[in-house]
Amino acid sequence: MRPRLRKRGKLSKSEQMARVRSKDTDSEIRLRKVLWQKGLRYRVRFKLPGTPDIAFVKKRVAVFVDGCFWHGCPVHYRAPMSNAEFWTEKLRINVNRDRLADSRLNEMGWAVVRVWAHEVNDDISQVIQRITKAVTATTDN
Ligand SMILES: [Zn+2]
Repeated sequence: MRPRLRKRGKLSKSEQMARVRSKDTDSEIRLRKVLWQKGLRYRVRFKLPGTPDIAFVKKRVAVFVDGCFWHGCPVHYRAPMSNAEFWTEKLRINVNRDRLADSRLNEMGWAVVRVWAHEVNDDISQVIQRITKAVTATTDN
């Protein structure tokens, strides 16, 4: 007997999460492309606290593209109905880790820019503006 195929459109929780993750990555790639086109040069996943998605090493500006689900975006985060406690705890850990990375980076003299994945998708020019501002605000040494 053939195994039953899952009904189209019905995704398991892990499949849904995998989709969320890949969508986040898309926003990050999209942002990187535009920054590159603007002539900004950066390093990807530079070895720093929190492993910033984009790092302007000479300028000491670290950029994180935070996924709306994984980092608890105030607009889009909805706790999953099943395993609510697990997901609440997971979010709490993620957010704590983010804040810890921010303070460690600040201590090291880095400016931190955090953007939500949805901001990249909805209004990339505003995101570019914020990053450009941070990059040009820092003094060269
Ligand atoms: Zn969002």
